[in-house]
Amino acid sequence: MSASDAPLAAAVDEERQLLGTSDTSQWPHYGGSYNEQRFSPLDAINDTNVSELGLAWYADYDTNQNQHGSPIYVDGVLYVSTARNVVHAFDARSGERVWTYTPILEPNPNLGLVNRGISAFDGKIYMGMLDAHLVALDAATGEPLWNTDTVPESLLGEMAGRYSITMAPRVAKGKVFIGGSGGEFGARGWIAAFDAQTGEEVWRFWTVPGNPELGFEAPHLAIAAETWPDDRPYWEQGGGGTVWDGAIYDPDTNLLYFGTGNGTPWNRAMRDPGDGDNLFVASVVAVDPDTGEYVWHYQETPGDSWDYDATSPMMTADLEINGVTRRALIHPSKNGFIYVLDAVTGELISGDAFTSVTWAIGIDEDTGRPIEADGARYTDEPFNIGPGAPGGHTWHPNAYSPLTGLVYIPTWENFSAMAPQQMPEEGPPPLIAFGGQVDRDTLKPHNRQSNDGWLQAWNPVTREVVWESERGPRWTSGALATAGNLVFMGTSNAGLLNAYNATTGEPLWSFDAQTAVYAAPITYELDDEQYVAASVGGTARGGYFAPTNARMLVFKVGGDVQLPEPMSFTPRELNPPESTAAPEVIARGENLYAQNCSVCHGNEGVQMRSSFPNLTRTPFLYSQEGWDTVVMQGARVERGMASYADRLSSEDSLAIREYIITRAIDVRDNPPPAFGFAPPPEEDDEEEESGDVHEDAAEN
Ligand code: CA
Repeated sequence: MSASDAPLAAAVDEERQLLGTSDTSQWPHYGGSYNEQRFSPLDAINDTNVSELGLAWYADYDTNQNQHGSPIYVDGVLYVSTARNVVHAFDARSGERVWTYTPILEPNPNLGLVNRGISAFDGKIYMGMLDAHLVALDAATGEPLWNTDTVPESLLGEMAGRYSITMAPRVAKGKVFIGGSGGEFGARGWIAAFDAQTGEEVWRFWTVPGNPELGFEAPHLAIAAETWPDDRPYWEQGGGGTVWDGAIYDPDTNLLYFGTGNGTPWNRAMRDPGDGDNLFVASVVAVDPDTGEYVWHYQETPGDSWDYDATSPMMTADLEINGVTRRALIHPSKNGFIYVLDAVTGELISGDAFTSVTWAIGIDEDTGRPIEADGARYTDEPFNIGPGAPGGHTWHPNAYSPLTGLVYIPTWENFSAMAPQQMPEEGPPPLIAFGGQVDRDTLKPHNRQSNDGWLQAWNPVTREVVWESERGPRWTSGALATAGNLVFMGTSNAGLLNAYNATTGEPLWSFDAQTAVYAAPITYELDDEQYVAASVGGTARGGYFAPTNARMLVFKVGGDVQLPEPMSFTPRELNPPESTAAPEVIARGENLYAQNCSVCHGNEGVQMRSSFPNLTRTPFLYSQEGWDTVVMQGARVERGMASYADRLSSEDSLAIREYIITRAIDVRDNPPPAFGFAPPPEEDDEEEESGDVHEDAAEN
């Protein structure tokens, strides 16, 4: 049979887009259906037989990075994006690879490694790229059909390199919607629509104003500009408000909703001493999907100072509130509040803390604004912010069951010590303007209170927690709910995929994935059998140098396939050479490291819990030539480490290596607590926090 006779792969038309997972032969959208409830009406796997769930097949990935991409499924083919924008299509009957797409990315040294998902429409698979392109792949072959640079020409030059994409595209009405991330790097936020057939830009919605002297691109920006300072060039640092994850189209209201990230820099005192709200940062915004015109907004965190991106995934549902059925937009947000908004008007229906919140004491239901706690803006004194910079949760998708009426939230509790920081005497403020000056002895008791992750079931009508799973270390996966009275969620440190009774929270099933589970699982029906698919893999359990056992795992009742024994792994020895460099060389290396390397490799050269290598253990500490193959010649470009030859001289590269040698010696002589499969020890939290900043900076 020639290709032209073959049935269209990923044959998702507008009717099937609207059906979503109610057509159980598909999971065509990132969130399953347009409502992004991540709910399936399938009940063959249910609370009476889930204990018999076993592997039907698995397929290994060739990667050692974190897997955040939730799969999609259409008509017998499972599609998944993995780290570095590598996409696999699997025959869902056999587990055989149909095709693999491996892109050549433009080097992008500052930004992330992960991808969070893809979408299917009319024979195409859509993906946003780390180099800020948007690509459409032929679903039958994996060949690119079009590839569009989403950064507009007006930003080419320095700001272009500040953008990256990790979010899943959303597809509706013949258009692909995608936003660019980079709020920590001085990007100006936008979401844009591209023609699904051609990749041509249809419209672009800027989330924050640019230079007023150049004129505003749309009327909403003139309104927004009134909430920004008129005496400082905020646009030179982009402003932030980037759209880096949550977006949702609702066919009932015919609106496109999305969330926006932090302002740049984080600390409003440095961004806008006039205490403006800085619209539309940390907001949920609704626009006309055909034109990109502004319809309404709700700013969750006015004048954000805490990195409270409003970009967590959101969902729509019909809720009966005080006897009236309302179309609701439900948003458990990074700032620790779960918001229920009227999807038509943006009116606040309710806002409640779903985890420990110290920055605000509640939401004023008349004004819809948070009631901030005294001192939370850390302008004079340090403050223990809860949720901390990692958030009450971030991109990990929630689920909702219309049968139980419960929202299932992968929930975190953590705190960050934030402290005032002085503006530099000259030049712009640093982009990430907190930390480094924190008096940790003062803050430690509170800062160490917890760093937990768990699954909670929240009733959005009665506004209360119905059940919570047992707590573990913070990182959790996304969630999946089914009509089998089940909720699935994974964990990273423990490396488990778990199933719970959706009504009671009783743990019913647990599978050792041998690796971190971040991405939300999905479910579908094939040949009258229900399957659950989870894309797993990550460095949380073993660190960068350990094998990650990254895979697609597919389960069915009675599945009896066994995973191979995990490869044994011995952590690299900490065995630095003697330090022979002059102190001024080491000092220069320290400064260069902080400017160029620390965002990925960690503060002070010691990254212990990250998807990037801990440089104190690299064998290249013994070889400047080997070190330079990576730093200057780009030998690790395919893992996300670009050549720095255009930024660093050979002397610079040597100075950084000499600095790392001194750090390795210091760690050897003053060893930090052991790192392994156990939860991080208490003394680790400084390291944890730097990792958090990295996680945010590099991916958001
Ligand atoms: Ca952020």
